[in-house]
Amino acid sequence: MTSHLLPTYARVDLAFERGEGAWLYTATGERYLDFTSGVAVNALGHAHPKLIAALTEQAHKVWHVSNLYRVPGAERLADRLCAASFADFAFFCNSGTEAMEGAIKMARKYHAVSGRPERFRIITFEGAFHGRTLAALAATGNKKYLEGFGPPVEGFDQVPYNDIEAVKKAIGPATAGILIEPVMGEGGVRVVPHSFLRALRELCDQHGLLLIFDEIQTGIGRTGALFSYQLSGVEPDIMTLAKALGGGFPIGAFLGTAEAAKGMTPGTHGSTFGGNPLAVAVANAVLDEVMADGFLEGVKQKTLKLKQRLAELKDRHASVIAEVRNEGLLIGLRLVPPVAEMVDALRAEKMVAPAAGDNVLRLLPPLIIGDEEIAFAVDAIDRACQRLAQAHAPAKGAA
Ligand SMILES: *Cc1c(COP(=O)(O)O)cnc(C)c1O
Repeated sequence: MTSHLLPTYARVDLAFERGEGAWLYTATGERYLDFTSGVAVNALGHAHPKLIAALTEQAHKVWHVSNLYRVPGAERLADRLCAASFADFAFFCNSGTEAMEGAIKMARKYHAVSGRPERFRIITFEGAFHGRTLAALAATGNKKYLEGFGPPVEGFDQVPYNDIEAVKKAIGPATAGILIEPVMGEGGVRVVPHSFLRALRELCDQHGLLLIFDEIQTGIGRTGALFSYQLSGVEPDIMTLAKALGGGFPIGAFLGTAEAAKGMTPGTHGSTFGGNPLAVAVANAVLDEVMADGFLEGVKQKTLKLKQRLAELKDRHASVIAEVRNEGLLIGLRLVPPVAEMVDALRAEKMVAPAAGDNVLRLLPPLIIGDEEIAFAVDAIDRACQRLAQAHAPAKGAA
């Protein structure tokens, strides 16, 4: 397999030609159940008729005009996201990492225009993932990802996750805010206790810091709430979105309260493509579906069904599945054998799902799955567990 694509990914030798709902098809017609969803992107599955209609309708009108002019679809999307959240303003970009850059800039600018330009540092957490551009990478703080790319962007202080004393110690005269994913997705689906989020909110209020939630993976219905912070009742000052926001069309966003956003005046930030008519047309169609009556309730019910079946699998395959973690349909199976073996075993069962940190297999089904997909997934995981249990069984007769 030779390719001129820069080899930064260890890709699986598998290509899909088309998708429909929760299913992906190869050029030879082989069908796979998609529990990757483009890494939590295709929340409405593949080839959703309303998304296709929104995209093609807009494609016949106008694709791109730049942000020098009003984009009515973007205004509507911002209105809807703000009406449904704590936020007063939204900025649209094209990816998660760009949303993070914007959120970091907003937090720093807030203090600068409040007469505290010395406050620019952000506290982040071990095991976090915030993206691959230089500031987002410094916020991520993963040594493996930073290695060889020169000095990390200054201004991030990483502390252990779920350790409020460590956070208190890290707060200093230069601290601007605290940044956390309410569920650490790439870090292994670690659900941050709501009590910890509440304690962070209190610390921010005490010290005049901004609380930033990275909801790039958790946002837009994945957890059974439109935004996962709503499950905790803890509101941030700034929030980032991307992945599911466009249902597969690239779009990201950072949102803030009027107070947090007060420094972001004309000229302070920009993006050529951000919030272009095609992207916002699709994102508005995604919101139509996810915010429709009963949709999120349905996600909760599917979560319960799947969770119950996964708990049974864990009981039956204790030598393979160590723990089931989830917030809604952001699900992690912490495994005993190496997660890479499970990813391969599932693919052999015609199901795709990605790995995460902490030896966790992530299950990220499209939110539109039904009973057929749940049953298929449970059977596939069951058989993959049997295979791994056999492969790792201690040799018979061993002393
Ligand atoms: C995927 C992800 C990002 C980065 O998004 P990109 O679109 O890949 O730049 C940032 N934060 C979290 C929590 C993510 O899951």
